Amino acid sequence: MESLRKKLLALDTKSYKAYKTLSGIYHFPNFILSIDHVQGDPFATPSRISIRMDANHAGFPYALWQTTSRRIALEDYIGRGVKQAIDQHVKGQRGSGGSGEFAISVNGQQVLMRNAVTVNDQFVEIRLTIGLPAHGRRAAGHEAIAMMLEELPGVVDTALCYHHLDEARVLRHIQSIEDQDALRVWLHQSGHAAFIADGAILPRASGVDDRPLRTDALAFCAPESLAHTVNLPNGGSLRGLAIPLGITLIVGGGFHGKSTLLQALECGVYNHIPDDGRERVVCVDNAVKIRAEDNRAITRVNISPFIDKLPFGRDTVEFSTQNASGSTSQAANIIEALECGSQLLLIDEDTSATNFMIRDERMQALVSSDKEPITPFIHRVRELYEDYGVSSVIVMGGSGDYFDVADTVIMMEAYEPRDVTSAAKALAFPTKPYNHPDRPFYPPFYPPTKRHPDAGALNPARGQRAIKITNRSTHELLYGEHSIDLSGVEQLINIGQTRSIGLMIHYYSQHHSTPDDTFINGLKKVIHHAEQHGLDAFSPYKVGNLALPRLHELAAAINRIRKGQQQ
Ligand code: ADP
Ligand code: MG
Repeated sequence: MESLRKKLLALDTKSYKAYKTLSGIYHFPNFILSIDHVQGDPFATPSRISIRMDANHAGFPYALWQTTSRRIALEDYIGRGVKQAIDQHVKGQRGSGGSGEFAISVNGQQVLMRNAVTVNDQFVEIRLTIGLPAHGRRAAGHEAIAMMLEELPGVVDTALCYHHLDEARVLRHIQSIEDQDALRVWLHQSGHAAFIADGAILPRASGVDDRPLRTDALAFCAPESLAHTVNLPNGGSLRGLAIPLGITLIVGGGFHGKSTLLQALECGVYNHIPDDGRERVVCVDNAVKIRAEDNRAITRVNISPFIDKLPFGRDTVEFSTQNASGSTSQAANIIEALECGSQLLLIDEDTSATNFMIRDERMQALVSSDKEPITPFIHRVRELYEDYGVSSVIVMGGSGDYFDVADTVIMMEAYEPRDVTSAAKALAFPTKPYNHPDRPFYPPFYPPTKRHPDAGALNPARGQRAIKITNRSTHELLYGEHSIDLSGVEQLINIGQTRSIGLMIHYYSQHHSTPDDTFINGLKKVIHHAEQHGLDAFSPYKVGNLALPRLHELAAAINRIRKGQQQ
C-alpha cells in the first residue's frame, strides 16, 4: 500500500503514459489489489483492476454459495452492492476524460452468470474499471491517491465484508433466485411451459426502461381454472397461472396487455432480482421468441417445412439469402430454434408476418395451394407439438383461425387473464387432425440439415489486426470484418452476453469447429465449457465485463453473419 502511495506521488504531473508502470500487485491491510491493465490516455477505455479478499476475512457462510444457483445469486448481490458502495464512497469526475470514475459490470434486472465477481473457498474477487485521473494529459497523482487509497478501501470494506451487509437482504436475494430455478424444475416435472405467479408485475416503466411500472400497474391474478399452487424451497406455497404444454393462444382487444404478457415470458428464461415484478415468472429455459426479421441474412437453412415452390424453382432445402422477407425470416427463425433444441416457441402477431401465420379460406380459394409457396404456421403447429414435443404460445388478437388448433385460450381483458378455452372451442371450425391421411404432404422438420458456417465467416481478423472482436451495444457485434445485426434477437438482454458471444464464436472456431459434428453441437460444447470453467476461459485478458449467453443467442449471432460482407 505504501509502495503504491510512493509511486503515485512520484507520478504526479508526469506524462499520462507513466501510469503504465503501475501494473502489478499491491498488498492492502484487508485485500490485494491487482492493476491488470492501464489505459493509454484519460479518454481511452478505463483501466482494469481486480481486488481479492481472503475468504475468511470476507466471511460469507458456505451455505450462501454452496450450489451453483446460490453462488451466482450471491455474486450478483455482491456486484450490485459494490455498485451502491461506489455511489456512496466515490467522488467521481476528477479531471479530464474518464478521470475519477469507478465501475463494475453488474447491471440490469436479470441475474446472470458473470465474471465481475467470484466467490470461492479461498477468496472473494471483484473486477472494476477505474478512470486513472489526469489534469489535461498529465497524471494527477494526488487524485489517484485519493481514489486508490481512500475511496477504494471504503468500497471494498462496505461491499465485500459479510458482517457489513444486511444479512436478511442477502438471504432474500439468494432464496429468490433459488426459487426461480426450482420453479423451472417444477415446469419440467409437471409438464408446463410457463408459470406466472399471482402478484407479478409484468409491465415495464417504459420501452427503454426495464424496471417495473410503479404507478397504476395491475398485479397479475390467475383465473381459477388455470391456477396451480407450487411449493417453493424458500417461498412457501405459491399460486399462479400455469401455462400447459401444447398450443396456447393469448387473445384480447388491443392495448389489453397481451404483448406485455408474452414479453414477460420471453424474459422468463432468465432469473430476475427481487422486486423486479417478474421474479416469479418463469418459462422453460429453451423458449425462443420467434419473429419476422426482414433483411436478415440466412445461410443454408432448410425452410422447406414452411416454404417451397419459390418462383423460378429456387431451393428451400438449403436456403440462403442476404435479404430475407418477413415470411422466410420467420421460417428460418423457427427452424434455427428447433435446431438448438427449443421446445417452446413464443410468437406475437405484432412482430409476425401475417402470411406466415395464417391463410384464410377465401384466400385459399383464390390462390390455389400449388401456387402458394408458404405453408402457414397454423397448418403445422399441431404436428410440431404432437410429433416433436414443441409447444407454442401465440398472441393473436386479429384472427380466430387459431381457435381450431389451440389447447388453451387465455383472454387478456384490461390486463386480467381469463380462461376462455371453452368459448373459443365452441367457435372453432371442425378441422381434420394434423395427421389425417388426406392431408397434403408437407416436408418433415427433422432431421435438421447438417450445415456449417462458411469458411472465412468465423475469421476474427480485421485489417492489420489478427483478432478484432468488439461491440458497441447489446444488439450489434463486430466480429472481424462482420458487423452482426442482433436487433431481432430479443432475448439477448445484456451487453455482457454480446461480448461473450464474440469471444465464444472465436473459441468455437478454434476448438470445436469440425466437419464431423453439427455446428450446434460444437456450440453446446462451448456453453458447457463456460458453465464448467467460467467465462475467463474465452478472454485472453483479465476482464470483468462478461455475462453468459444462452446457446440460442450464441447460435443466433453466427446465423446472422453475412456472406463476404465488408465493413
Ligand atoms: P396489447 O399487446 O394487448 O395491445 P400491450 O401488452 O402492448 O397490449 O399493453 C398496452 C399497454 O398497457 C402498455 O403500455 C403496457 O405497459 C400497459 N400494461 C400492460 N399490462 C399492464 C398491467 N398489468 N398494468 C398496467 N399497465 C399495463
Ligand atoms: Mg400487442
